[in-house]
Amino acid sequence: MLNIHQVKEEICDIGRRIYNRGFAAANDGNISYRIDENRVVCTPTGISKGFMKPEDLCIVDMEGNQISGTKKRTSEILLHLTIMKSRPEVKSVVHCHPPHATAFGIAREAIPQCLMPEVDINMGDVPIAKYALPGGQGFADVVMPYIMKSDIIVQANHGTVSVGPTIERAYWLAEMLDAYCRICLIARDLGKVEYFTRDEAEDLLQLKQKWGFKDPRAELENCELCANDIFRESWKETGVGHRAFQPPAFKRKDDILDQKSTNPNCKCGGSRCKMNSQNSQNSQGSQGSQNPANITDSNVPASDECELIIKTITDRVIKALAG
Ligand SMILES: [Zn+2]
Repeated sequence: MLNIHQVKEEICDIGRRIYNRGFAAANDGNISYRIDENRVVCTPTGISKGFMKPEDLCIVDMEGNQISGTKKRTSEILLHLTIMKSRPEVKSVVHCHPPHATAFGIAREAIPQCLMPEVDINMGDVPIAKYALPGGQGFADVVMPYIMKSDIIVQANHGTVSVGPTIERAYWLAEMLDAYCRICLIARDLGKVEYFTRDEAEDLLQLKQKWGFKDPRAELENCELCANDIFRESWKETGVGHRAFQPPAFKRKDDILDQKSTNPNCKCGGSRCKMNSQNSQNSQGSQGSQNPANITDSNVPASDECELIIKTITDRVIKALAG
């Protein structure tokens, strides 16, 4: 039988870890755990997550009405409950502001893929949801489409929301994402970011399937492997793009060997996808080769990225001439 006091102690313990890692300054962040069909333990509003005691925590029903606790429940509980109702397997929701992951949400820079095996296996394509005013149902509405497809999301100009069957698992995703974003930024500062090759990326995808982890890239055959294709459709609305990190462009081998197998359900739809498809056809047409090795990494940026580069150069030239 579930021991509610133990759940409360675990929430306090995770709160300390969030605070000590600098994922929640002052009173930021919130944590919840569903203890049964109609009750959820959650953190109160206006308290540092680093110094909570079990008696500080609240219990609410699935509509957000407070059942117990002397302190007022977090205003973000509506988001937690909306997630738990839509994904019954989710028992815990953790929201915090891990600095490196949040920085990607502020820069609207797509979280790179194909750089570290553990990250690709545990998280896959991590989306950035558009900004919304915290607290209300509108906040939850913005997050929901993404959290239905990914256990962790970055909220633009805000933080992360991660979910799991346990409090530790939900927290752990935030810790892993932040460590990864930090490593990516350090590597970029060193001047070179080397992505997996297509074979390495595909081997990892196969391993992921073998271990029972789902990855939409395995089913949506018209997607590129390392270019954040799964959530690319949302980029127009969120302003997310590849600016600081330029991934290689390649699809799965199957797509190139058998164009008929291309699944139109892949909504990658970006110019990059079209460009890649043209490259594949051109390569096959001009060289008559079916060898996927001949149709490899293209570092040609997508047309919208080209436009951005041209605009930046033009601006600088005009500024230099003016000065
Ligand atoms: Zn927040």
